[in-house]
Amino acid sequence: MGGKMDKDWEVLVVGAGPAGSGAAAAAAEGGAKTLLIDRKKEIGTPVQCGEVVGASLIRQLKLRVPPQAIASVQDHTRFILDRRIMITSREPYWKSVTLERKIFDKLLAARAAEAGASVQADTRLASLEMKDDKVSMATLVHRGEEVVVRPKVVIAADGAHSSVAKMMDLSLYPSDAMARGIEFEMVAKSKLPPGMQIFLEPEVGLGYGWIIPKGPRRANVGLGVIGLDESRRSTILEWAGGNPIVSKYFDLDQVLEVKSGDAPLPGFLGGPLRGNVLFAGDAAGQTLAFVGEGILPSFACGQGAGAVAAAAVRARSLKKLECYDRAVKDIMGEELERGGALKDAILGAWSDETLTEGQRTLLCGLIMSESIFPDQAEEVRQFLDLPAASLARVVRAGIQKRKARASVAVLRHR
Ligand SMILES: Cc1cc2nc3c(=O)[nH]c(=O)nc-3n(C[C@H](O)[C@H](O)[C@H](O)COP(=O)(O)OP(=O)(O)OC[C@H]3O[C@@H](n4cnc5c(N)ncnc54)[C@H](O)[C@@H]3O)c2cc1C
Repeated sequence: MGGKMDKDWEVLVVGAGPAGSGAAAAAAEGGAKTLLIDRKKEIGTPVQCGEVVGASLIRQLKLRVPPQAIASVQDHTRFILDRRIMITSREPYWKSVTLERKIFDKLLAARAAEAGASVQADTRLASLEMKDDKVSMATLVHRGEEVVVRPKVVIAADGAHSSVAKMMDLSLYPSDAMARGIEFEMVAKSKLPPGMQIFLEPEVGLGYGWIIPKGPRRANVGLGVIGLDESRRSTILEWAGGNPIVSKYFDLDQVLEVKSGDAPLPGFLGGPLRGNVLFAGDAAGQTLAFVGEGILPSFACGQGAGAVAAAAVRARSLKKLECYDRAVKDIMGEELERGGALKDAILGAWSDETLTEGQRTLLCGLIMSESIFPDQAEEVRQFLDLPAASLARVVRAGIQKRKARASVAVLRHR
């Protein structure tokens, strides 16, 4: 095998999603000889994502998103709960930017290359050889041919179904802790409101539906559901055709792209380190678990993994890798922990069998939209069987108490 692939790589990054590209750029900037690989022929394609990120996270991470990777910008999010109550939030977290991930992911990988990493699409990690609980050798299949590399550190940024974890016989989180997602990118019949719409309702189950604008007349319309047994395609067809708001805007014969994938649920697990392998992004469950937002958390935690890997290589000491947990906590710990706590509160509300399915979706939606504090769930429970107008008054009072920038309305399309 000729060319650059034979080099003595110090850091091997498996997977060129946001986590892997963030990791490879940081590792190369830290002076490590870094190889970033992805089995895809084209980095960023196919997309398995709603493509939306919180505008406040972009600011917090001081991320420069190239304009060509931005599909649209939203100044609010609407939560439509049990098809009865609508909460419109203008809180910083609920202002959002929709990315064109095919462009975004490729540009992130290009930035890693500009930082000095070698980037190879169409290159799959095929197997790992372990010695003393550490990876001693990795076999890659590069454009159909085998290449052997012996990195000092491996960063596993290979997604929700991490092949590195499988090869190391690890399960970092239970395999059923996964939301199954399905989405159509569609053209709308008329102009869409300039906000993301999130639907919690018995027709969806434990999870939520969404309309994520990608322009005035284009959007990702999808569902993420925990414990979904039926086929993804029939589930979205049934839901999109039956939901009054979705069917008002979209015809099921205007579909530009079908996207599907799984999103890990566990939320914050620290920065998993095993031997000389750092896990990052979805492979490590580093998502804001209450909504499944993973693009920017994965990228930021990946950067942390890359910087720690480079520091270990520089110091010739794998002991330095133990800083990874601390690094992730410094970068994103607060957000990841908040996301995990909200997810636990939502799962708690959903498992309350004294409530009807409609009431459960109302309660989960109030927690998710942060209209109530999670510890108010008990107090609010008694109001859930009120008529919509009275319930809206109670929710409004709660929002005022929280001083949240949000409003409440009653929907009458039932
Ligand atoms: C339906 C759905 C909707 C979502 N919507 C949103 C959203 O709107 N906003 C948001 O922030 N997050 C969303 N997410 C989550 C988001 O997509 C992920 O959190 C994010 O992509 C994680 O980035 P990553 O780099 O860790 O992994 P990935 O983006 O999954 O990248 C992993 C890469 O590893 C590569 N790979 C895997 N195995 C190998 C191997 N053996 N050799 C070489 N390469 C390999 C894959 O090809 C892939 O490119 C959604 C997820 C789903 C499923």
